[in-house]
Amino acid sequence: MSARILSGKEIAEKIKQDVKKELEILKEKGIKPKLVAVQVGENPSSRVYLNAQKKSCEAMGIEHEVKNVNQDTTENELIQFIHTLNNDSSITGIILQLPLPQGIDVRKVQSNIAVEKDVEGVNPANLGWIVYGRPLLAPCTALAVKELIDSTGVDLYGKEVVMVGHSDIVGKPVSMLLVDKFATVSICHIGTSEKGMLETHVRMAEILIVAVGKAHLIKGDWVKEGSIVIDVGINKLGDKIVGDVEFDIAKERAWWITPVPGGVGPVTTAILLRNTIIAAKMLNRQ
Ligand code: NDP
Repeated sequence: MSARILSGKEIAEKIKQDVKKELEILKEKGIKPKLVAVQVGENPSSRVYLNAQKKSCEAMGIEHEVKNVNQDTTENELIQFIHTLNNDSSITGIILQLPLPQGIDVRKVQSNIAVEKDVEGVNPANLGWIVYGRPLLAPCTALAVKELIDSTGVDLYGKEVVMVGHSDIVGKPVSMLLVDKFATVSICHIGTSEKGMLETHVRMAEILIVAVGKAHLIKGDWVKEGSIVIDVGINKLGDKIVGDVEFDIAKERAWWITPVPGGVGPVTTAILLRNTIIAAKMLNRQ
């Protein structure tokens, strides 16, 4: 039997409706969320992403501004600039667009974003709150994965979850969010693959989440019958955008599967808007 397609578009739409309602309430109280994205130097693909981000904010009625910083800025100058944004009370959310120029310590700069303005959840304090089981502003993609899984109605208690990829903003926070619901989470990475153990783990997964960035790394016939598959990967293959999972074969085995594009992506964008509201509320003690 073919899987149900777990469309991110519908879930994103629902989140946006909630965001709209929250915005109305905030505006009645005189609170106007404003998001600032910091772009260091020029990067054509960042530019496309920032334009899309601006569009989705403005469609909601959230002010969005891109601040351009010179390519040859030093780490200290960039940190100082982040501090000026932290201290500007008209700004309620800050995004640091990656990549940064070579020689700048990304984590050090991210750790200087005010915790309450950190709408992407990249400040170590916000990542730490996930470990405590009390996520405040968590990374948008990690929250999107959790949202997609929850939408299936599955009970996570004791479920075999396999997370492929252990990045700081996807694999690790996703694992923490699911462990807190008492899922049994295995985290796979390059070491798992190089030991030839990736297939073994994937075959056991009742819930499989893949965030690697390698087209079709996960063979469709590894996917467990009746499982839930969340494919975070975005890869260009010829003129097509594909995920990390061999979708056509996997969909014949899974119970639910996210498409790429149209799965995790739209939910991630909607969560950024939701985080922007949460940040504005925290700053105004709402
Ligand atoms: P990173 O490159 O930061 O992390 C990739 C992870 O995959 C690392 O843990 C890496 O391990 C692991 N890995 C690499 N090769 C293998 C392998 N052969 N077998 C098992 N694990 C492997 O990527 P991100 O987490 O930032 O992103 C992952 C993918 O998700 C990308 O395609 C990205 O474009 C996409 N993405 C999509 C989003 C969306 O909204 N849909 C948002 C964010 C990301 P190691 O470090 O040990 O090499």
